[in-house]
Parts: sequence; C-alpha cells; structure tokens
Amino acid sequence: MDYDYDLFVIGAGSGGVRASRIASGFGAKVAVAEEFRVGGTCVIRGCVPKKLLVYASHFGEDFESARGYGWDVGESSFSWEKLIARKDVEIDRLNGLYIKNLEAADVEIINSRATVEGPNSVRVGDKTITAKTILVATGGWPTMPDVPGIEHAITSNEALHLDSLPENVVVVGGGYIAVEFAGIFNGMGSRVTQLYRSEQILRGFDNEIRDKLNEEMTKKGIDVRTNTNVTAIEKTEDGLKLTLTDGSELITDAVMYATGRAPNTAGLGLEKAGVELDKKGAVIVDEYSHTNVDSIYAVGDVTDRVALTPVAIKEGHAFALTVYNDTPTSPEHDAIPTAVFSQPPIGTVGVSEEQAREQYGEIEVYTSDFKPMKHTLGGSDERAFTKLIVDKATDKVVGAHMLGLDSSEIIQGIGIAVKAGLTKAQFDQTVAVHPSSAEEFVLMRNSRS
Ligand code: FAD
Ligand code: NDP
Repeated sequence: MDYDYDLFVIGAGSGGVRASRIASGFGAKVAVAEEFRVGGTCVIRGCVPKKLLVYASHFGEDFESARGYGWDVGESSFSWEKLIARKDVEIDRLNGLYIKNLEAADVEIINSRATVEGPNSVRVGDKTITAKTILVATGGWPTMPDVPGIEHAITSNEALHLDSLPENVVVVGGGYIAVEFAGIFNGMGSRVTQLYRSEQILRGFDNEIRDKLNEEMTKKGIDVRTNTNVTAIEKTEDGLKLTLTDGSELITDAVMYATGRAPNTAGLGLEKAGVELDKKGAVIVDEYSHTNVDSIYAVGDVTDRVALTPVAIKEGHAFALTVYNDTPTSPEHDAIPTAVFSQPPIGTVGVSEEQAREQYGEIEVYTSDFKPMKHTLGGSDERAFTKLIVDKATDKVVGAHMLGLDSSEIIQGIGIAVKAGLTKAQFDQTVAVHPSSAEEFVLMRNSRS
C-alpha cells in the first residue's frame, strides 16, 4: 500500500524533532505536526527559559560576593519585564533554529494539532493523512489537584510570562520544578513560601541531599514548610488567601503549582488505533519504544519513563536507528546523570544511599561537607556536599551525588565514570583538579558502611 509518508511524527519537541531528523537522514519521507511551537517543552517553556531565569536570579548573590573580592558594584536594580522580553527573544531564536534544522533535514513541518485515526492514519484539520509508521511524541502537561479556587493558581507555563514579579509567591510541590522556581523567585527578590505535602522535598533523591537542600534554601530565606498542603484558595481584596492543612491561612500575590505532569494523550485518538495506555494515560512501550500496535511507536514524556530532555532525545534517536537503519537500538535508562537547578544546584547519577542498601546490601558511603572556595572571600554561608556510594562486593561506584556550586556541571563527567562502572579505586587513582570543588570526588577516603 502507498502511504503519504513513511513516518508521521506527532509533536515537535525534544524526542519528535530528533526522531524526524534522523529518520529523514536515512531516507524516510517524514512529516512532523506541532500544535504550538517547534522545540517543545524544553525549548519553549521548560529547560531553556527556566535556566535563563536561574542565571538571572543569581546575580543578587553574585553582586554581594563581588564586594568581598574588592569590587564596588554600586546600586543595582532588576527589571523582570526586561528579563522576560530578552528571554523571549532567545526562545524565538531557538525556535527559528529548530525550524531551520528540520527544513534542512527535509522534514515537512505541519503547524497544526494532529490526532490518531487508525494504525496508519492521522487527522490534521479536516484532512486524513496516511503513514507507514506513526511516532507519538506529544510530551506532557502540568497537572493541578482539584482544590477549591485552583483556577487562581498558575503553573510553570504562566510563571515564565508573568507581567510583573510578584512580591509574595507560594510554590506548591516538592519536585524539580517546585525547588527550581522557589529559587528563581527568591533570587529575584520575591518572598517565597514553598509548601510540600510529605516529610522532605525531592522524594526519590538521596536523603542527605534532600535534607541539605532544604537547609540551604531555608538559609537563603525561603520558608520551606513540609507536611503542609493547600485545602482552598480564595481571591480576596488583599490577595490570594490560601487555607492550609494545619488550618492556618496565608495571603499571597501568586500561587504556583508544580505538582507533576501528565502524559499528553487526552483526545489524541490512540484508542481508535488500539494503542494501550497505562493508568496515568502514558503510552505503554517496549524497550524499543514500540507500542502494542505494529505501526505505532512513542518516545519521550508521553511514555512516562524518565521525563528529561536528553532521555527523550536518546529515545527518539534509538527509534530512528531501529526502524530506519536496521539496527535495533534500545535507549538505556540506567545511570542517567541529572541536575536540579535549585540554589544551590544538585548533580546526581546512579542510586541513592537508600536504594543502594536495598539493591546491593553491603555498601560503603563516602561524604564530604565543605565551604566552596569562592565563598571564603565572597562571604556566602552556602555549603557544598559530595557523596559517593560504593558496592562493597565489587568496589564499583554505584551512586554519586553533589549539592553545591557548579554541581550541575561537575556531574556530567562523574556520570561517564559511573555509567562505565568504574571502581572507587579507579576514582582514587585519578589526579585531582586543584583547587576545585569537583576534586572532592577523587579525594574522599573515610567511609561508613
Ligand atoms: P515535549 O518537549 O513536551 O514536546 C511535545 C510537543 O508535542 C509539544 O511541542 C506539544 O505542543 C506537541 N503536541 C502535543 N500534542 C500534540 C498534538 N496532538 N498534535 C501536535 N502537536 C502536539 N528536562 C531536562 O532534561 N532538563 C531541564 O532542565 C528541564 N527543565 C524543565 C523545566 C520545566 C519547567 C519543565 C516543564 C520541564 C523541564 N524538563 C527538563 C523536562 C523536559 O522539558 C521534557 O522531558 C522534554 O521536553 C520531553 O520531550 P518530549 O519530546 O517528550 O515532549
Ligand atoms: P515531580 O513529579 O518531580 O514533582 C511533583 C511534586 O508535586 C512532588 O513533590 C509531589 O509530591 C507533589 N504533588 C503531587 N501531587 C500533589 C498534590 N495533589 N498536592 C500537593 N503536592 C502534590 O514533577 P514536576 O512537576 O516538578 O516536574 C515534572 C518532571 O519534569 C520532573 O519529574 C522531571 O523529570 C522533569 N524536570 C526536569 C528538570 C531538570 O532536569 N532539571 C526540571 C524540571 C522538570 P510527592 O513527592 O509527595 O509525590
């Protein structure tokens, strides 16, 4: 049978763009449909704008520390409006670049929503288009709990476009987005309260890292309240009135929910093709990103595996190699290095101490708690913390974690070592880079089991 395309990709985000370009490079006739902006969450309203805001929010502390180094920085002021406008220019530039790269790769861009009509057909507007293979790469969308007054709350989507910087912000949630935005608003000068429903923020991360991040955020002036949630939001003359689980009330200018993201499959028509979804609506795939329907694959956040851009990209690439280059490739999901752009940031790869105790039994734990050299003259009381988890039976480093200045940069290199399965002895044989914070990873000698 003749199809309009060899491959029809739904969603031009991290996974969809990579899959389209690589598949086209192998000779496939490819179209990609995008209902919002090419680039997807990461480029348009995720990693990139977020990181620009993280940089922006750090200058207040940097100016302070500059004084300790002999600089007279004079009066400083900050314009949220200017920052958002400049951020938008950069996002437009990247959006243009993504479009150019797709066009250069001979991928046809369809600026519209697409839905699935059957195993080999999609609907775009009033047209039905056929394809030998369909790739679902529709990403995810923020979810908010059903709290009375939730319509007054914003998510990270709106936070990136606020008209002005709120004087007071409440951030609800304890995951990546919550801690990152709490740090952003705090650095810009807002008074920030972060509410988290359980005992400690960043569930799933190493416990010591979680405790220490909470301490550092609190030192910077963020009111981090654990075991606390919102039961109602009401718009009043003084601002938004939040009622909390302990019965107390809080008045704030803005409340931002960062309570998770759901796979974007609602109304996508996957059931018409017989594609299986899990309870959360994620597309169920095998290790080659293949669904239960022969002609349909899915990559990225919509599959709810690991919701990170480099992972979506790897999955998209592996799909193209598997289907269009005759080289079945399974994207590996072990030892994925990741950074949380909190302030201070976290870099982590491999298992936490708690997971290691369950998985490996006997382990050795090496830690180092120190003041980064930059802060000596700079005057900040922010500390840093590094941690290695070693499997006693093999001496392999199975987890590496860092909280502190530059940890988001440092962890990439450490990630290579952990992914390669290097031993603690091999870490120790490596010469330190001095003076640096990173050197702690090859200098830690005292362990506990
Ligand atoms: P997406 O990038 O979400 O792309 C899906 C695309 O599909 C979207 O453009 C959407 O408009 C489109 N679409 C959906 N349905 C349809 C349809 N029916 N028809 C046509 N188009 C459709 N990850 C990191 O690794 N590092 C970070 O620092 C980081 N920061 C983040 C910060 C925030 C605030 C958020 C929200 C996420 C962040 N992430 C980060 C996660 C990262 O953005 C995602 O993991 C990544 O974008 C997933 O890529 P994807 O291809 O699966 O989906
Ligand atoms: P997460 O799933 O990481 O965190 C959601 C948070 O909301 C958790 O603390 C959760 O608590 C809490 N929560 C869930 N439901 C409720 C509720 N009903 N009431 C109160 N709190 C609730 O989601 P995020 O939105 O932070 O981010 C989504 C994903 O995007 C991340 O997991 C990550 O994969 C990716 N991302 C990556 C970044 C990076 O690489 N730097 C940055 C931003 C996002 P509990 O722990 O109790 O379940």
